Amino acid sequence: MVVWEATRAFRFAGTADAAAAELHARPGELTTNEAIAMIDHLEPFAGALLGITGGDPLEREDLELIVTRARIRELRVILALAATPRVTVHRLRKLRNLAGDAEVALRLDGATPEAHDALRGFPGAYRRTLDIIQAARNVGFPVRIITTISHKNVAELDAMAEIVAMTGASLWSVTFLAPFGRGNAAEMLNAVEHEQVLVRLANLWGRVPFRISVASSPAFARVMTQTGHPADIPLDTASDGRGFMFISSTGDVRPSRVLPIVGNVRQDSPVTLYRTAPLFRALRDRERLGGRCGRCEFREGCGGSRSSAYVFAGDPLAEDPTCTWQPALVA
Ligand code: SF4
Repeated sequence: MVVWEATRAFRFAGTADAAAAELHARPGELTTNEAIAMIDHLEPFAGALLGITGGDPLEREDLELIVTRARIRELRVILALAATPRVTVHRLRKLRNLAGDAEVALRLDGATPEAHDALRGFPGAYRRTLDIIQAARNVGFPVRIITTISHKNVAELDAMAEIVAMTGASLWSVTFLAPFGRGNAAEMLNAVEHEQVLVRLANLWGRVPFRISVASSPAFARVMTQTGHPADIPLDTASDGRGFMFISSTGDVRPSRVLPIVGNVRQDSPVTLYRTAPLFRALRDRERLGGRCGRCEFREGCGGSRSSAYVFAGDPLAEDPTCTWQPALVA
C-alpha cells in the first residue's frame, strides 16, 4: 500500500480533524505533472492500493486526472475524504466513473454527534460524515471507516462498531492515537489498554458484517491467533516499510508517516526507494529487530510497530513499546 498525502490544504484547518493541515496548499506540493509522473513510477506496483489522503484531497482540482492515471497504472485507489463541503454528489459520481473499483474512506471517531463533533473540532461533522458515507454508497463506492482510538472514545468502541455496521461499510480501519500529529500524551492508551482493545476487536471479528484492519498495530495478528482465530484469516499485514510506504504532499518518501525521509519522488523512483533504501531494507529484515520483537515467536507475522518504536525509543528497529507480549523464545 502506498499512501500519498495529496495536499495539506483543508477547509477547516486548525480543527482536530486537520492538525497537520493548512488552509491552503503549502509551497512545494507536487504539481499535476509531478503527481502524474509519480503515479507512472508506481507502475511496477500494479495491483497495489494507493491511498490518496490529505488535508482534503478534493482541494486538488486535478484529482480526477490523477485518479484516472492511477487506474491506467492499475493501482487500486482508496480516497480518504474529509467531511467538508467539497464533497458533492456530482463530484463523487464523477470520481466513481473515473476510478473504477476505487473505495472511499471516512473518519468516525465517536458514537454520537456530540462525541464525534467534539473530537473532530467542528459542529455537524458527524451528520455530514454519515451523509457522505450514504452518498458514496449510493454512487457505488465501497466504504471503509477509519477510527482513531484514545482515552476519549475507547469506551464507545462497541457502540462505534454498531454504527460502522449500520453504515454498510465493508471495512473498519482502527488506529491508535500516537505522539505525533494531533497526539496528546494524556489521551493515548497505555500498552495494557492497547492490548485490551486488540482483544475486543479480535472478539468482534466474524460477528460483525465488515472486516477489521488494525494496520498500525501488527500485534493484532498475534492477538487474533491467541484468541482462537484460524491462521489463514486474510488480515491486513502491511506494516511500515514492509508492504507500506508514505509519500508526502511535497514528494518526500518515508516507510510511514513518522519514520525518516529516504528520498523524494522528484529525484527518485518511489519503487526504487522502497526496494533499495537501507531503512526500507532494514525494516523488512526480521533478524535486525531488537528487544522482545527480536526474539518473539510471532515476529514473522507481526514484527511490531516500527513507527511506535521510533517515536518512543528513537530506534525504528527497537521493540514495540505498545505491545505487552513476553516472548517465550530466547534468541
Ligand atoms: S513482541 Fe513484537 S513481534 Fe512479538 S507480538 Fe509483540 S509487537 Fe509483535
